[in-house]
Order: sequence, then structure tokens, then C-alpha cells
Amino acid sequence: MRKLVLVGGGHSHAIALNHFINQPLINTQITLITDVFQAPYSGMLPGYIAGFYEHTECHIDLNKLARAAGIEIVITGVTKLDVNNQQIICSNGQIFTYDLLSINTGSTPDLSQIIGANNYGTPVKPVPQFLTAWQDILEYWKHAQNDDQNNDQNEEKSLTITLVGGGAGGVELALNMQQQLANIDKLYKLKSKSKYKSRNYKLENHKLKINLIHRNLDLLPNYNQQVGKYLRNLLHDRGIEIYLGESVQKIVPKNKDGDSLPSYHCTVNQD
Ligand SMILES: Cc1cc2nc3c(=O)[nH]c(=O)nc-3n(C[C@H](O)[C@H](O)[C@H](O)COP(=O)(O)OP(=O)(O)OC[C@H]3O[C@@H](n4cnc5c(N)ncnc54)[C@H](O)[C@@H]3O)c2cc1C
Repeated sequence: MRKLVLVGGGHSHAIALNHFINQPLINTQITLITDVFQAPYSGMLPGYIAGFYEHTECHIDLNKLARAAGIEIVITGVTKLDVNNQQIICSNGQIFTYDLLSINTGSTPDLSQIIGANNYGTPVKPVPQFLTAWQDILEYWKHAQNDDQNNDQNEEKSLTITLVGGGAGGVELALNMQQQLANIDKLYKLKSKSKYKSRNYKLENHKLKINLIHRNLDLLPNYNQQVGKYLRNLLHDRGIEIYLGESVQKIVPKNKDGDSLPSYHCTVNQD
């Protein structure tokens, strides 16, 4: 019996598990080591951010797949590989030996090039941490709407989100974040019908501000130029501020001096 260990529950390993359900590997004991039960499917992530999908709809249930394939699943992070002794060392202290090893742990943005990004920015990957930060933003925004309704002076609370990276992911996120936050704003306004009429609903630009900073002069530089142009117009029409040809070097907390863009939340999704 040979031992095959799969490290990480990324897209390729999810497909492999599905494959093993109908075509089990003979004479092979398989173990999947993953730090999450539910692997996010990133293609649907922007749709989840916009509120189009439920959490379960855009996550792959690795536990269910592993059980169906008769594969052992261990929930922990791998911290070290000892290739000389063919050992895998995990954060929970467990050590696994292997004959064959497959790694599908994905990638995360490199924050080391941006001063302050570790403290004041949120990388889009690992996705679970990003989604936790997004839930915090949604909670803040819902509370802000509630407070606004109960506020006699009608001083509306504002929110600014800055995204770093104008590839497909960054552009999708900017549009979908705005969509969900505008929906919440609209919902609360419609609740207080005396103040607003649904026909007159308009998201105030001073209340919700979304910035997108991109180091190239074109958005989505790896796509046809027309795609970038189209999206640039679309973002402009939606009131999203685009800063092209700008490289982010430093992120500081709000209200610090310097030539900086004020932001409550900064999401980093650069290549
Ligand atoms: C907003 C956004 C939208 C995107 N949209 C698309 C799209 O529409 N189409 C497309 O093709 N791509 C899209 N992408 C890119 C896509 O995310 C990646 O190409 C894809 O996720 C790569 O898959 P992967 O299996 O390599 O890694 P991942 O999907 O990142 O999976 C890696 C897994 O390994 C786990 N892991 C990591 N480290 C360890 C460890 N030490 N021990 C145990 N487990 C670990 C992680 O928790 C994760 O579950 C998008 C990305 C973003 C951010």
C-alpha cells in the first residue's frame, strides 16, 4: 500500500477527489490535509460579495467529497515539509509520512512590497479571512444605516473602500462590493418611507466611496484593450474612482499627514 498525501483543498484537488469517487486508486491510501472544510470557489466569489449567492453555493464541501471517495481528511495547516525523510509537519503537531505528495495550496498576494499592508490592508486571499473582513464591513454599514435613521441631525455615516490591483478580480470586487452596499443602503431607506420614496432612491457618492488603484495605464492589461476601456467607462459611470499608473507603496491609518488617499478599508489583490 503506498501513501498519497494531498496538501491543500484547492480547485485541482477538489476535482481529483471527485474523480476518485468513481475511479479509486488501487493500492493507495489517500489523505487530504486542508486548513478549511469549505473550499471557496473564487469564480463565484464576486457574486457572493454582491449578495447573489449564499455561502454554501460558492464553497466546495471537501468533507463530503472526501467521505464519498473514502479518503481520510485532516483539518490543519501544513507548516513544513521534510523532503529528505518524506514527512509533512502540521500546525496541530501531527506528522505524516508519504510516498507520493501533491500540493495545491494556491497563492496569496505578496504584501511585503507595500509598507503597512500587513497591518492596515486585507489581502483577498486566503479567501476565508477576506470574507470575515467583508462581513465586518457589512455589519458596520448596516449599523451605520440604522444609526442614520435614528439620527435627528441627519448626519449620514460614510464608508470608503480602496482596492489595490485592477485585474479581473479587483474590478469585479469593486463593482460587486458597491452593489451589495448600495442594496443595504436602499433597503434601509425604503424602510423609512416617510423620508425617501423608492423612485427617488440614489446612493450618495459622498456616503459610499470606492477607489481602485492600478499600476498599469490600462485596466485588465492581459485582456483585449477594448475590455479595459469598457470597464473603465463602467466604473466611471458607477462613480468608482480609478487611479491608473499608480503603484501603492505605503498604507497608513486614517488621518495621517502626507499625499494619501483616505480609506477605512483597503483590499489588496495585486498579482
Ligand atoms: C476575487 C477573485 C475572483 C476570481 N475569479 C476567477 C475566475 O472567475 N476564474 C478563474 O479562473 N480564476 C479566478 N480567480 C483566481 C482564482 O482564485 C485562482 O486562479 C484559483 O483559486 C487557484 O486555485 P488553486 O487551487 O491553485 O488555489 P486556491 O483556490 O487558493 O486553493 C488553495 C487551498 O489550499 C489551502 N491551503 C493553503 N495553504 C495551506 C496549508 N499550508 N495547509 C493546508 N491547506 C492550505 C487554502 O485554504 C485553500 O483552500 C479569482 C480570484 C479572486 C481573488
